[in-house]
Amino acid sequence: MTKLNGNTLLVKESLINSNHHVTVKNPLRDDAFDIDDDLKIELIAEKFKDIVEILGFDLTNDSIKDTPNRVAKMYVNEIFKGLNPINKPKVALFKNVYEYHTPLVELNIPFTSFCEHHFVPIQGKVNIAYMPNTYVIGLSKIHRLVDFYARRPQVQERLTMQIVQELSTTLNTKDVGVVIKANHSCISCRGVEDLGSSTLTSVFLGQIKNDNNLMSVLLGSNSD
Ligand SMILES: [Zn+2]
Repeated sequence: MTKLNGNTLLVKESLINSNHHVTVKNPLRDDAFDIDDDLKIELIAEKFKDIVEILGFDLTNDSIKDTPNRVAKMYVNEIFKGLNPINKPKVALFKNVYEYHTPLVELNIPFTSFCEHHFVPIQGKVNIAYMPNTYVIGLSKIHRLVDFYARRPQVQERLTMQIVQELSTTLNTKDVGVVIKANHSCISCRGVEDLGSSTLTSVFLGQIKNDNNLMSVLLGSNSD
């Protein structure tokens, strides 16, 4: 950690950009980032062009001719950008000078992720609680960390665990609770086509799991 001024600490670049403390990993190969983003976009566009062509589309058509490139850029720069550790948000921590040691609760953090089995959206909200120790985190950084882990092909259970592990390590507290309620497009748009169902995952660690009231708030408040 680096001291910036009296109260602000910035987690060092090397620590920010490492996911070593997040032990629940996405199934990537070791050479996942050996080629750079520009080359990835170029290669994915070529492959996606094949898919569009095989489906029978006319790639000289104005509306469709740039689709392979658009999809490739969207994969690498937007919806899957959280795969690359260099995109991990920088996290500023502030000394807990207020001696605030009761739960901080952040509700209804929206996210869009993608099901790794079908590559279609998982959309929902995350509720988070943590008990501050020596440091507190800027609230917007909680949102940015959720976004970072969401922007990958995921399964909801893994996303829940990665957010829990990230917050627990970054904030140096064992008292963390994360609840995710989400709609899976692979359930609603295909397969059983079951519109309106949602999936709830939850992890409660440390003191949070002894607080029934708080667990109800986390489990219940995003029921829209
Ligand atoms: Zn799926």
